[in-house]
Amino acid sequence: MELLKQKILDCGRALDEHVLLVDSFLNNQVDVKLMQEVGREFARRFADAGITRIVTIESSGIAPAAMAALEMDLPLVILKKSKSSILKEGILQTEVFSFTKNAPYQLTLKPQFVHPGDRVLLIDDFLANGEAALGASSLLERAGADKTFQPGLKKLQEAGYRVEILAPVKRMAENLIEFD
Ligand code: 5GP
Repeated sequence: MELLKQKILDCGRALDEHVLLVDSFLNNQVDVKLMQEVGREFARRFADAGITRIVTIESSGIAPAAMAALEMDLPLVILKKSKSSILKEGILQTEVFSFTKNAPYQLTLKPQFVHPGDRVLLIDDFLANGEAALGASSLLERAGADKTFQPGLKKLQEAGYRVEILAPVKRMAENLIEFD
C-alpha cells in the first residue's frame, strides 16, 4: 500500500535493523485518515473472503482494525495482553513472547465474542516473528473460529494462513527503511 509506505518513509524511524518507530501516526498519536485508508485497503483485499468478524490485539492494532470493521460492517473483537491472574473464568489465554518488551505476556480472549464457524480476519500493527499472530490463531481456533488470517510470514503461511502485509519491510538499519 503506497500511501502507508510513504507515511513510514516520511514519519517512521528505524531504531535498528529490527524495530521501527511509528509513534507519530500509530502508537502514540493516530493518523485517523490514514487508518481509514488502511481499513479500506483491508476491506478491498478481503471483500470476497466471507469474513464474519475482525479480531485485533491491543493496543496499536485497534485503530486500523476498527476502521476495517467499519468499512466491512463487521464486529470487532479485541484480544487483551492481560497480566492479571484474577480473571480466570470465561477466558482463553495463551502465553506470547513480546517482541518489543522482550518478556512474555498472557494473550487473552473472551470466547463469547467469537462463535464457532466464524471466519476471522486478524489485523495487527506489525508482524515480526509471528508470536502474537500465532498465539491469537491458537486462541481463535480454541474458540471454534475458521482459519483466515492477517499478518512471521513464513510460519503463518506454513500453518495454512493467508497473510497480507500492507507495507512489507525488506530491510532496516538505523535511519534506513526499505520495502519489498
Ligand atoms: P511478533 O509477535 O510478530 O514477533 O511481533 C508483533 C508484535 O510486536 C506487534 O503486535 C507489535 O505490537 C510489536 N512489534 C513488532 N515489531 C515492531 C516494530 O518494529 N515496531 C513496533 N512499534 N512494534 C513492533
